[in-house]
Amino acid sequence: MHCQFCGAHDTKVIDSRLVADGDQVRRRRECQACGERFTTFESAELVMPRVVKTNGSREPFNEDKLRAGLLRALEKRPVSLEQIEATINHIKHRLRSTGERELQSRLVGEEVMRELKELDDVAYVRFASVYRRFQDVSEFQQEIERLARDKVREEPVERDPADRDTS
Ligand SMILES: [Zn+2]
Repeated sequence: MHCQFCGAHDTKVIDSRLVADGDQVRRRRECQACGERFTTFESAELVMPRVVKTNGSREPFNEDKLRAGLLRALEKRPVSLEQIEATINHIKHRLRSTGERELQSRLVGEEVMRELKELDDVAYVRFASVYRRFQDVSEFQQEIERLARDKVREEPVERDPADRDTS
């Protein structure tokens, strides 16, 4: 791994730990030339199912597109980049564990909503409002009310406190 600052090829791993429920290795590296430190995330290259769009066309699963959608929904929300990466990994893990080689894009959207619902209510509603293309305000209101009811039923939220670690 070359240095992100000076481009030197000689960087040393100074810390290494598992993140995202063990799906990723987070490494702190130090450049031996300029002394700058930076972080890399490594995850196993695993085959993702292809996505079948509503018009029937197929496209490869696009992680960048997923990340962009999450970042848009989570704009100005108190969620760390590390939590977002963990969420992306959860979603990928769940999609892979279906064992299917192709998945309807609708299913991918449902997975994203499921994860966002756990992560951040506001982001969930933002994403859902775009994704489900709410017809009118009353439908949107129903969704928010349903969310409030679900929240009461689901407490306490099952989530590894380590996921909240923003260090
Ligand atoms: Zn350097």
